[in-house]
Amino acid sequence: MDDTVRREFGALLHAQRDELLAGVGASERLLDAIREARSDTPADDEHDPEGGTMSAEWSRAEGLLEGTQRELGELDAALARLAAGSYGICTGCGSAIPLERLRVRPAALQCVGCASASTRVRG
Ligand SMILES: [Zn+2]
Repeated sequence: MDDTVRREFGALLHAQRDELLAGVGASERLLDAIREARSDTPADDEHDPEGGTMSAEWSRAEGLLEGTQRELGELDAALARLAAGSYGICTGCGSAIPLERLRVRPAALQCVGCASASTRVRG
């Protein structure tokens, strides 16, 4: 992988990282807002129809945050590999990941073959 390509993906990864960080901030604000709304309601009001909506909203926001943080971790790993010079090398089979795949999914650590194989194993 030459320097031009490395720079291209460095920019791509950083742009995605900024986006994800904004997403984390938004999810955290949403969780804060839900938490505040909850603390306004009396504790013994479990039969309030609003309660169910609130916890559904909470788990959705929490799931969103977890997903974003996981993606952020993958991006950080990709950035570390970019700095170490091992970016774009499949962690499964050691062959170069096609640039077309990296452009679609810059945080990818494995080639399509290995990624789908491990997805099958996880079931
Ligand atoms: Zn592979």
